[in-house]
Order: sequence, then C-alpha cells, then structure tokens
Amino acid sequence: MDDPNGPNSRGDPEREERSDFAAARRGLVGELRERLDASERTLSAIQAVPRHEFVPEERRSRAYADRPLPIGHDQTISAPHMVAVMADLLDPDRGDRVLEVGTGCGYHAAVLVELVGPGTVYSAEYVPELAAAARERLDRLGYEVTVRAGDGREAFPDEAPFDAASVACAPTGGVPDPIVDQVRTGGRIVAPVEDDGLLARGGQRLVRLTVREDGVDREDHGGVRFVPMR
Ligand code: SAH
Repeated sequence: MDDPNGPNSRGDPEREERSDFAAARRGLVGELRERLDASERTLSAIQAVPRHEFVPEERRSRAYADRPLPIGHDQTISAPHMVAVMADLLDPDRGDRVLEVGTGCGYHAAVLVELVGPGTVYSAEYVPELAAAARERLDRLGYEVTVRAGDGREAFPDEAPFDAASVACAPTGGVPDPIVDQVRTGGRIVAPVEDDGLLARGGQRLVRLTVREDGVDREDHGGVRFVPMR
C-alpha cells in the first residue's frame, strides 16, 4: 500500500497537504459510518469529494470536522452528516436528473455528482457571487454541474422534469409548488420545512416528499436548522 507520508511526499508541501486532507477525510467518514446509518454508497461519495476545496482558505484546517462552516454572504456549507443524511434520503440512481436549490459553495452538488454521474445535476443559487464561485470551483475540480444564479423555485423549468430535488434552504409554508411541479411523478424531494407546531420558535423539520399524481406523500425525518429560502 502507498504510504501517504512515504518518501515521495517528502519535500513536496502540496502533496503532503493533500495526503493530510485525505487522511482527515477518512477519519470523518469513519466517524459518520459509526454515528449514522448511512449507506456505503453515500459514504463513498463523501470520501471522494475534497471538502477542503469548498471552504474558505482560512477554514481549511477545519474542513473535516463534522460541522457547518461560514462561506461568506452570511451563508454556510452544511455539516457533512447533514449532506450524508439528505443524500441517503434522496437515494438517487445513476443517471438521475437532480435539481438542487441552494448551491452555496457547491459541496453538496459535488456529492450528488458522485452519486448520479456527470452532467445531470442542476443547481440554483440566489446569491450571484456564490453561484459564480461555485461554478468556477466545480469546473476546476471536474464536477459537471449546471449552476444558475437566481431563485431556485424558478431556475430550471426548461430542464424539468427532474427525478429528484434536494433543497438546502428552508422555505416558509412548505416546499414551493414550482419545485414540486418540476419533479416527475414518483420522484423524491428532500427539504427542510418549517415545523407548523414550532413556528414561533423557528423550528424546522427535514422531510422527504414523494410526488404522486394527486399530491405528495410526506415523511418526517427530524428537527434540523437551515438558512431560510429567500
Ligand atoms: N448546498 C450547500 C448549502 C448551502 S446553504 C452545501 O453544499 O453546503 C443554502 C444556500 O441556499 C445559500 O447559499 C443561500 O444563498 C441559498 N438560497 C437561499 N434562498 C434561495 C433561493 N430562493 N434560491 C436559490 N438559492 C437560495
């Protein structure tokens, strides 16, 4: 086996840094494997994506802690366990067309590409600067994602129908109809929504919707905290 700290890495700080990050990432995935009931498929996707490339330079040393981190513009990169839980609930097939609402830094979109393959993830980001930075970063790392700046509710009517949608910001009053309308019958939507019973405290629940001919089935997957959908 390759020794990540073997002779080849000596004297090459970039290479040493890369292998440090890879080791930290294996540690994180091991932790997630123990704590979550996540599938090996999802864990492999998390293992494959260099999360340190998605966080600001000065936060890189904390990229493999299981925590959200600030990414500027008052937004955050989701904690790895949350991305794993959402990816498992979505459970997309290879080749599926996936809509993401809330690209942020692009990390979750990259995890989705690991699951479905290149070219079928479409992600909308409200903040134009974040959309541009995510597009550049995903490109550079070889993740084929279509990123559009704008309101995720309306961003991709021309690309619908999608097999699945992953929503990374919390809408008020349930998942907006335009998102539900862009997902095919039988397709899934994973999203944080306001908890009707806890509205006053700003509580949110993670839900999985399955789109039916005549509406949606809804499953509740516990309390969460996401930034609001604008
Ligand atoms: N998917 C990200 C999480 C980003 S945080 C990750 O990989 O970690 C949620 C993002 O949703 C923020 O960047 C925020 O700007 C964006 N957002 C909020 N409202 C939105 C809307 N209506 N349409 C698209 N993006 C929105």
